[in-house]
Order: sequence, then C-alpha cells, then structure tokens
Amino acid sequence: MKVMKFGGTSVGKPERMHQVSQLITKDGESTIVVLSALSGTTNSLVEISKSLSEGDRSAAKQKIDTLEAHYRAFVLDLLKTETTRAKANAILSEHFEFLNIILRISFSEALNKDILAQGELMSTKLFSCYLEEQGTDHMLLPALEFMSVDANEEPQLGSIKIKLSQLLQLHSDKKLFITQGYICRNAKGEVDNLKRGGSDYTASLIAAAINAGVCEIWTDIDGMHNNDPRIVDKTVAIKQLSFDEAAELAYFGAKILHPTCIWPAQQENVPVKLLNTMEPEAAGTTITKEAGSVGVKAVAAKDGIIAIKIKSSRMLLAYGFLRKVFEVFEKYHTSIDMITTSEVAVSVTIDNDAFLDKIVKELEPFGSVEVEKNQTIVSIVGNEIAKTDDVLQKLFAAIKTVPVTMVSYGGSPHNISLLVPGTYKKEILQQINKGLFGL
Ligand code: ADP
Ligand code: ASP
Ligand code: MG
Repeated sequence: MKVMKFGGTSVGKPERMHQVSQLITKDGESTIVVLSALSGTTNSLVEISKSLSEGDRSAAKQKIDTLEAHYRAFVLDLLKTETTRAKANAILSEHFEFLNIILRISFSEALNKDILAQGELMSTKLFSCYLEEQGTDHMLLPALEFMSVDANEEPQLGSIKIKLSQLLQLHSDKKLFITQGYICRNAKGEVDNLKRGGSDYTASLIAAAINAGVCEIWTDIDGMHNNDPRIVDKTVAIKQLSFDEAAELAYFGAKILHPTCIWPAQQENVPVKLLNTMEPEAAGTTITKEAGSVGVKAVAAKDGIIAIKIKSSRMLLAYGFLRKVFEVFEKYHTSIDMITTSEVAVSVTIDNDAFLDKIVKELEPFGSVEVEKNQTIVSIVGNEIAKTDDVLQKLFAAIKTVPVTMVSYGGSPHNISLLVPGTYKKEILQQINKGLFGL
C-alpha cells in the first residue's frame, strides 16, 4: 500500500483535481490519498476566526461569503453532471451554514479549531464527488475517526495504527481511500489540527501506521531544493536525502515539509518522495535511511526567532547553573533551538514568544537578561557536514558582510546553524548560494 499526499496548490483548481485523479489511479496499487484544503482556504479560515475573536462579525460574514462564492464557482468547473453538482452544492451548503451559525456563537479556542477544519473536510468531499462522477471506486475515510494527538499535542501513533487498520479491514474490498490531512482529535476528543502545513505530517503518520511502501508528497515544486526558491533566484532540486537531513531542513525552515513530519516515516523506515503535481515525470527528491553522499546539501532559514542571553559572573565555575536556566524553559513548555555558552554567559534561541515575559522574569534573578527579537536561524545541512574539510572556511568567506550573532556547530553531525538579524536573511542565503553551492 502507498500514501499520496496532495498539497493546497495541487488541489486548488478544478483542472488540478482532475489531474490528481489521474495520478492516483495510474498504477492500480492500493492507495491512501491525503488531501489539503484548496490553496488559500486555511488562510481565509484563519482570517474569519480572527475577525470573530475580535468581535467583528460583519468582517467575518464578508469573508465567509467571499469564500463561499469561490467554492460555488469551483464546483461548476469541477463537475459536469447536474446530479453530482447538486450533491456537491448540498455539501457546501452544510459547511457554509455551519460557518454562518458560528457567527452567532461566542468565540472559543475549540470553535477556532472547528473553523480551521472546514477546508480539508470540503476539499476531500468535493474530490470524492468528482471521483464518483468519473466512476472511480473509492472510499472516504474520515480523519477524525483515526487521527489523534495526546494532551501534549503529540500524535498517538499506536492508537492511529489500531484505528486505521480496523477501518481498512472494514473496507477490505476497496483499493482507493481518500482522507483529510491536517485535522485530528485532541485528548479531549475535540476537533484539532497538526498545525499549519500539517497535511505532510498526516501523510507520514499514515505511512508509518500502515507500514506503506512509500509516502509520496505531491506539491508545486520538483522536490527539496538546495536553497529557498522564494528568496534565491537560482536553486536546484536534490535527488537524495537521508531522513536526518530532511528532518533538519524541515525543522529549520524548508517550507516544502512540515517541521516534524519526517519522524513517523523514519521510525518505520518508509521512503518519502517529494514530487511535483505540475511536472509528474520529474525525478523529485527521495528521502531514505541512506544519505547518498557526504557534505553540504542545502540551506534553510527559520524566521521569527528570539535570542535570549543570560550573563552572570556567578556562572563562573558554578555547576547546576544551566539546569536552573533550562528548567525555566521547561516550566513554560518552550523548546530551545540553538544554544551557546561561555564561562559567564549562556545564549539560547526560541521560536515561540507565548511565555516570553514570564520566562524573562524568572531568568532575571540569575543575572542580566538581554532579548533580541526578529532573528533568523540559517541552517546549512548535509550528511557528516562537520567532517567536510573546508566547509567552515568556505562558509565564513562567503558571508563576510553579514553580522552573525550565534554559531552552532557539532551538536548534530548534519547541521551548522548561524543566527543573524532577520533583515539579513536574503543577503546571507544569496551569499551561501554563491559561496557554498556555486550558483
Ligand atoms: P503544499 O501546499 O503542496 O503543501 P507548500 O507551499 O507547503 O506546498 O510547500 C511547497 C513550497 O515550499 C514551494 O512552492 C517553495 O516555494 C517552498 N520552499 C521553501 N523552501 C524550499 C526548498 N528548500 N525546496 C523546495 N521548496 C521550498
Ligand atoms: N491546509 C493546512 C494549511 O494550509 C494544512 C496543509 O495544507 O498542510 O496549513
Ligand atoms: Mg505544505
């Protein structure tokens, strides 16, 4: 069995959905297809939720109406027969009625999650209507019946495995299954999600749960590129990556993959392929246990980083100091990305400012605390990168004009990370492209 995940742009236009239906039926293999919401939908739902949380019902209503008009037009293009159009329109009416009803309910976090779930629910149901019209036998598997996270928002792979295999057994006569990416149930049984870009995570979790032969992530680019194509002009696709390399790139900002989506596939050793829906014949990127080669493969950047420096002469020769510092971050469930220490100071970076004020307050008794916002982590990734002779020399020669405020080297054998002010992101990515990749 295999898993094929299609992202927002891959299902964002009726003709793309038509193309997806051809891709998923090409080889006749048993397949679970994971779909994102149509491109732009989750952003619109976030906006609707925001207007509601601010009490601006008329702005929310306007956004709901615009979204509904988009979907009504989509159905007209997607489907040809009156019966399936009527069926699809009835489905849309149900979802937009729900969105209109919530205009009258007081806003809550649980309601926010319900709103965000509408995109994937609609895309899968509309796609199912199209498959039905085409006479393609399939089954819609509701993700809310098997995808779940625990109280720490961690996916429950064990339970996902059991529930999914029960569902598949119930429909063992079927070969093609369609399900929603991104959405899940939380520990309270409420509708929740796997965070933005989470459909990749759904695909990898399903691939691990069913021990799939391959997990294919179909998107709008021909695989993982050596640099961020949104920022740098010339980038090239990478043929082969190890799970470790791909995980580092995803975590440190390569948007093509959800930050934590690699571990489930890695755990069950399921190869992951990144493929282009618009160019299905392109080789794409294959991610497996083996790295293929040693050395620099790609660079990625993660924005919105906060650097915190704690300076204290009491740290000199003191043991237990770092433990106390880390305990503060643990208390506020805030994970640390980079860390550097000297005899009298420790600097860390975090990407979540939800508890920043409280963290700073609790760190102040340890020494002076400095906070720098709007920083960017630039990560150079490659198998055994630290063993490559001249990588540091080339790197620092390439980025001469950029002020680097932190360096992390050796923590992972596959990663060198630099912290720079966010305003230098484009400059440093371009310079690394030239100096390390010769592009
Ligand atoms: P989907 O909607 O299919 O999930 P995403 O927009 O989440 O697609 O991811 C694909 C996009 O990721 C590409 O269009 C590209 O602009 C961006 N991207 C950022 N960094 C990289 C990279 N290193 N390699 C490939 N794509 C990248
Ligand atoms: N629709 C969700 C988002 O836009 C999940 C995804 O596309 O992966 O974040
Ligand atoms: Mg994505």
